[in-house]
Amino acid sequence: MNKPILLSTPHISDRELEFVHEAFDTNWIAPVGPHVDAFEQEFCQLTGAGYAAALSSGTASLHLALQLVGVKSGDEVFCSTLTFVATANPITYLGAKPVFIDSDRISWNMNPDLLQEALEYRARIGKLPKAVVVVHLYGQSADIDPILKACDRYGIPLIEDAAESLGATYKGRSSGTFGNIGIYSFNGNKIITTSGGGMLVSNNEQLVNKARFLATQARDPAPHYQHSEIGYNYRLSNVSAGIGRGQLRVLNERVAARRRNFMIYTSTLRNLPGIEFMPEADYGSATHWLTSLTINPKAFGADREQVRLALAAQQIESRPVWKPLHLQPVFAECECIGGAVAEDLFTHGLCLPSGSNLTDADLERVINGITAVHDGSEKKEQVLIF
Ligand SMILES: *Cc1c(COP(=O)(O)O)cnc(C)c1O
Repeated sequence: MNKPILLSTPHISDRELEFVHEAFDTNWIAPVGPHVDAFEQEFCQLTGAGYAAALSSGTASLHLALQLVGVKSGDEVFCSTLTFVATANPITYLGAKPVFIDSDRISWNMNPDLLQEALEYRARIGKLPKAVVVVHLYGQSADIDPILKACDRYGIPLIEDAAESLGATYKGRSSGTFGNIGIYSFNGNKIITTSGGGMLVSNNEQLVNKARFLATQARDPAPHYQHSEIGYNYRLSNVSAGIGRGQLRVLNERVAARRRNFMIYTSTLRNLPGIEFMPEADYGSATHWLTSLTINPKAFGADREQVRLALAAQQIESRPVWKPLHLQPVFAECECIGGAVAEDLFTHGLCLPSGSNLTDADLERVINGITAVHDGSEKKEQVLIF
């Protein structure tokens, strides 16, 4: 029996346990402590972000980010449609409504022209959204400059969902550090993990202080427990932050390993007919958190599901590209601007095993598995011809 090859699993180095032991030895087993502070500082140094608040998840970070830029009940928020549901869920926590925006084919991320046109139209009819949430998909930055320009023109705050793109750059700067607020995730499947956690960053110190305040039950500065606002229990534990500090020290290696996966997949599979990889936009460096490709069934001889199932039969986990949020039953009532590109990427797109801990033998099994589906379909065709 072949050992299972999974999509993306935690990859721990030899430093995390040291930091966790330190937390135990000093009894800082709480959602506060020296690792939390140090994790925030080290994260800022690494990404160039101004200020950071370590939180319990990427989703919690988005929830606070939306609240901090003033999203309230009845508002609308523009949001990438090709993404994980966690990007849009927090919009609804606040009683606001997402309006989805399609991808472009250059980066698979939010189409800046569509955003600009939509904002122009909404300005004309006096119905501007309260915020824009842009996603950096699968470790590749969206085209931030025109997106920021469009937002700035109408004074709309930009939130970057960089949950999948820690380590990626746009024009030399870290993805997630351009908008009013950026958020990251340290879930178990992300490029680095704290077993579960998130980070909210901004160049505005007051916003980040307010995030910490809201994340700790909005406790007013008083010796007794006094509260003038509704808060949350969203702080990261000092133990988890210790894991995060160890993981930050190997981030560059993790990015290099995922980029190497992508390079090996592209160099071996690129020549198969009907296979196209997620393009690498020339404005930045992608981490290839997940290597993703599309399969044209006519040219390849099998469709995305056939390939996925053939891999699954060999204990290899692959996944369809995110189902666009405007196609999700839970968002059926929400407006979507465009949508055909994301739908096409979902229909034909597949994410391959991409962990930084995959061996060359693992990669070879995936590559052989995909190649065999194509070869098998060609043989079938020959049978038909002769
Ligand atoms: C993982 C992910 C999130 C949510 O992060 P959690 O830490 O799991 O809450 C949000 N957005 C995107 C695009 C993600 O991939």
